Amino acid sequence: MAKVFVITGPSGVGKGTLISKLLERVQGLELSISATTREPREGEVDGRDYHFLTPEEFDRRIAAEDFLEFATYSGNRYGTLRSEVRRRLEQGHSVVLEIEVQGARQVRAAMRESVQVFIAPPDPASLRHRLESRGTDSLEAIDSRLEVAEQELAAQDEFAHRVVNDELERAAGELEGIVRAELGVPLDSGAE
Ligand code: ADP
Ligand code: 5GP
Repeated sequence: MAKVFVITGPSGVGKGTLISKLLERVQGLELSISATTREPREGEVDGRDYHFLTPEEFDRRIAAEDFLEFATYSGNRYGTLRSEVRRRLEQGHSVVLEIEVQGARQVRAAMRESVQVFIAPPDPASLRHRLESRGTDSLEAIDSRLEVAEQELAAQDEFAHRVVNDELERAAGELEGIVRAELGVPLDSGAE
């Protein structure tokens, strides 16, 4: 019954925004907190936004086989701890992973039953625009993320589901519909 949902797509496409709406709308879903070696952004909290690890600690966790998947992205490492996923599934919660494409492939190989959703931009130019207006990354970091985005967009056909994040409410509704269909929870369940 409890499932693993992998939400992937290029930086700035709106994964985080769509996932927060999804978690508000569908009960029993929990977000896995990833580990990363990148520096916290202003306002980010260790253990809430990420488990912020030193490169040495990240290496130690790789050697201990603590990761379900991990990847290098734009100069930093990111990974999903097995414990984050296992604990939630054991409690009967479905788990949402917000990860980049290399990690999504690893989860697909390890958990064929995972539900994989690629979030695509309405057009490539919107990624730069959204990253600039989010205001969390330097111009250099944005350029690096947009370079990676080209490869990620080329991989979108690998994914079972694809949602274009054009208009936020429409896209959030489509993602919610995919998740509810996979969980067997109808759209109007629990309403009013
Ligand atoms: P990601 O998690 O994929 O990197 P975010 O969720 O942080 O992306 O979104 C990047 C920026 O784009 C944010 O400022 C967010 O408010 C904005 N955004 C998200 N979805 C839309 C949309 N459908 N239309 C316009 N802006 C959007
Ligand atoms: P950010 O630095 O913007 O928080 O994340 C950069 C990229 O890393 C995003 O595409 C995000 O989805 C991805 N990411 C976050 N956590 C993980 C993870 O645990 N594993 C992998 N493979 N990617 C992750």
